[in-house]
Amino acid sequence: MAEATAQQAATYKNFIGGEWRESEGGVFDVRSPANGELLYRAQRSTVDDVHAAIRAARQAFESTEWREDTAARTAALSKFSEAVRGRHQDLAAQLTRESGKPFPISRGEALRLAETTSYYAGLARWIFGRSQIPQPNSISMIMREPVGVVAIIVPWNAPLALLARAIAPALAAGNAVIVKPASYTAGSTVELGRIIESIEEFPKGIVNVVTGPGNPVGAALARDDDVDMVSFTGDTSTGREIMRLAAGNLKKLSLELGGKSPTIVFADSNFDRAIRGAINAASFYNAGQICIAGTRVLVEESVHDQFVGRIKEMVPKMKVGPGWEKGVEVGPVISAAQLEKITGYIETGKKEARLVVGGQRLTDGDLAKGYFVAPTVFDGMSPDATIAQEEIFGPVMGITTFKDLDDAIRLANHTRYGLVAAVWTRDINKAMKIATRVRAGSIWINTFGKMYQSTEMGGFKQSGLGRQYGLEGLFEYTELKHVNIQIEK
Ligand code: NDP
Repeated sequence: MAEATAQQAATYKNFIGGEWRESEGGVFDVRSPANGELLYRAQRSTVDDVHAAIRAARQAFESTEWREDTAARTAALSKFSEAVRGRHQDLAAQLTRESGKPFPISRGEALRLAETTSYYAGLARWIFGRSQIPQPNSISMIMREPVGVVAIIVPWNAPLALLARAIAPALAAGNAVIVKPASYTAGSTVELGRIIESIEEFPKGIVNVVTGPGNPVGAALARDDDVDMVSFTGDTSTGREIMRLAAGNLKKLSLELGGKSPTIVFADSNFDRAIRGAINAASFYNAGQICIAGTRVLVEESVHDQFVGRIKEMVPKMKVGPGWEKGVEVGPVISAAQLEKITGYIETGKKEARLVVGGQRLTDGDLAKGYFVAPTVFDGMSPDATIAQEEIFGPVMGITTFKDLDDAIRLANHTRYGLVAAVWTRDINKAMKIATRVRAGSIWINTFGKMYQSTEMGGFKQSGLGRQYGLEGLFEYTELKHVNIQIEK
């Protein structure tokens, strides 16, 4: 890929009130994390742009029938889903250029966006309340209404899939939204604005996209009294900051934050599947940049040596490179800042544990132009080690041994996070003890990463607030209202 010249590089505009607008704040460059090439520019929005988007969303919410017209919402989301499906190869190619991730992973993400919007297109007609007769001549209705104006702040690690599970239920429930994509992956999200624009069932202003840095753009959305809800996916510390900013008008919050998830491997598991499952859980395919990544592998003592032996054999064979090259399994990390953070944790890990695989930045040939880190595995990781407690968000797995079931549960819960956990065993009793006693929002038994549109996920402890996907993921974007009728005698 030849570098686009300053003139050739596309410049994305903000999508506000159905119009494409430039910001007074100028633009910022987005470069490939795989080779540093300039890909495009996007608006460095100001707080004034944020206010314009909030006004447009409020106006659309208050002045159109969107919030009450479930048929229009079903039609709009169905058309959106079809259009995304039709363009999924282009969207995936764009995502691979801007994130560096392997193309098949990007394609899966684009299709997931299509599937999630299709699922919630159906559920738009399934927003029922309840009714009851609480006393004679008194009838109560419990109704669900949209929350109003929802700000959706998205990270860069899986921008289409993570946007999907917020924007689809928010729109299905009848809200107006303002999307703030992560700056590193702004383009693939702004492209969706073009699709929205082409679908007449979306009233102008129901979907707005504003690009620019978390501070001030995301922060202005989180702070504004005319925003009713923030849906955020990203770092726990940013989630905490958003909670503080949102306190002014007591906004509703949906937060999906960090993780440090355990993969528990018992000696009685199907060992081949457990090893492949543990490697998959570590999410090397996304350079470890996945909130659910199973970065703490807890292995029963008696099979530890065998487990480490197989990992040493398998992980170094993974092909690292730009995601657009055929056969690449591990792409670059997203930025110089992430590279520095991850290699810093790897150096800490070398002091805290035994390095068994990887452990360095890769700079052979063209890899030197990007932010590539060798898939890395540490053994003998103490449960209190920095690398066992902090979310590294890079291709780094740590192995700790356990003695028995109680020890496995204790270690699994020895974290401030609680997003997911996986257990590999043929003993149903052990599996169900783990499922009931490990404090995490999703537990996988002899599998990993199964996230269906119809099954809720979300975090215990500091992994978040609220649930994504399923009915609960839809109801997050609604308010409950009690209406009571008195019958005259
Ligand atoms: P952030 O959580 O800071 O970014 C996520 C999104 O929030 C981006 O759109 C970002 O904008 C925006 N944002 C940043 N600051 C604010 C703010 N004060 N108010 C409102 N919105 C804000 O993640 P980073 O990209 O900074 O990555 C840092 C670390 O976060 C990673 O190393 C990783 O550990 C973790 N992370 C975890 C994720 C997860 O899913 N668990 C996802 C992403 C990161 P912008 O990027 O444009 O500035």
